[in-house]
Amino acid sequence: MSLRTRLTLLYSFIVGGILLFFGLAVYRSISLSVTNQLDDLLRRTAETVYSNTRIDSSGQLTADTLSTLNLPADVYVQLWGRDNKLVDAYPSLIILTRALDPAGLQNTIPVFRDVTQGTNQLRVLTVPLGIGSRLVGSLQVGTRRDVVIATQRSLSFVLLVGTSLAMLAAGLAAWLSTRQALRPLDLVTKTALQITRADDLSRRIPYSGPPGDEVGQLITAFNQTLSRLENLFHTQRRFLADVGHELRTPLTVIKGNVGLMRRINEFDSESLGTIEDEADRLTRMVGDLLLLAQAESGKIPLANEIVELDTLMLEVMAQMKVLARDRLKLRLGNIDQVLVCGDRDRLKQVMVNLVGNSINYTPVGGEIVVGLGKAGEMARLTVTDNGAGIPAEDLPHIFERFYRSEKARTRQRDGKGYGLGLSIAYWIVRNHGGRIDVTSTVGKGSTFCIWLPLAQGGCTEPKPIETPDI
Ligand code: ADP
Repeated sequence: MSLRTRLTLLYSFIVGGILLFFGLAVYRSISLSVTNQLDDLLRRTAETVYSNTRIDSSGQLTADTLSTLNLPADVYVQLWGRDNKLVDAYPSLIILTRALDPAGLQNTIPVFRDVTQGTNQLRVLTVPLGIGSRLVGSLQVGTRRDVVIATQRSLSFVLLVGTSLAMLAAGLAAWLSTRQALRPLDLVTKTALQITRADDLSRRIPYSGPPGDEVGQLITAFNQTLSRLENLFHTQRRFLADVGHELRTPLTVIKGNVGLMRRINEFDSESLGTIEDEADRLTRMVGDLLLLAQAESGKIPLANEIVELDTLMLEVMAQMKVLARDRLKLRLGNIDQVLVCGDRDRLKQVMVNLVGNSINYTPVGGEIVVGLGKAGEMARLTVTDNGAGIPAEDLPHIFERFYRSEKARTRQRDGKGYGLGLSIAYWIVRNHGGRIDVTSTVGKGSTFCIWLPLAQGGCTEPKPIETPDI
């Protein structure tokens, strides 16, 4: 059964139930009130008759003739003596020979009962008469219940018809309003099916209603999920294409050199050197890929010990000076003594990557300045070069895996880069509770800046591993 049908039935039954409940209460209270009016009439008549009835010491009943008592026209009265002998009756002793309520004659206390006499429905009051505790007869006063029955019939009719109409109206209203309310859900279903059939994650669900209501929130969440999925699929596709591309280049070079040696039928040391370089490049790349994959699945434990960043930086500088040789000027700017908590080897890897990039992307004669200081609660490490710079359109992407600016791709460098270094650096810094940012101007140079929380006392907790969302 559809949600819409269920809601419609629910509303109808709730409205029907409430109306029935109140209807029955009204039915009962009106029936009682009309019956009370009849009982009052019977009680007053009985009092009139009783006050005109005498009982002598032998228990003999004598009454004024009932027809002389000016009784209401719509009542019947019977005065029963000992041994259930009818002493007098109103309106006529001849017509009313049978007891109005035969069972009531046995009662020892006054009682009202509803009685059926042939086709007549009567309300009868029986009052036992006696001397002391001795029962000597009964007085029965009755009247037709027609007014009660008629009232009950019309009430039942109004109740049934009214409840049915109200249920129908509630059902109709629920059916129409739920169609309106559930229409966006139909849209969600249709769009989801279209996405599945057409394999097209670029579709979004249009919604013109208020974005803050439940349906609006659902659609917003659904659209956000679609965007995220689209992004993920896009990234995955690009990642596979990039891996394929990056793997193919060195393999082509290796194959070409092997082919060359086969043709000339001798070992060419230059070709062997190239093969070795490309094999190294492949090994490094596969290593970096594995590192990123492990990082994303949270499988890389990070040490959490006090690291003297200034000492580490000097170490990196000494190592990188070899690479810069006399091609570039690599110098220290302002250096403070700075302590952070973290993994020394991984932090070194970040510094090597940043300085290495600056060396790679700065032309001969350029300058690279490395600085370290404190800003509030954070350590601030900068690597500034006056090299090629990064185009503004590339800046938002350089931390993505395999992302390399067009220039970096086409440039004939030593062919070592493949666009994973900054992704790894980003992941490491982020998992040290820090951040990494970059400012750059094409032709003027770039500044990479790393912010890391300063060590406050000891380093106890191991670093939490986060999954990067680049
Ligand atoms: P790569 O192995 O290509 O250097 P990275 O992830 O380290 O990969 O860097 C990504 C891209 O960012 C580089 O290809 C280059 O386009 C750009 N880049 C990084 N550092 C610099 C820099 N100091 N100067 C200019 N461009 C840079």
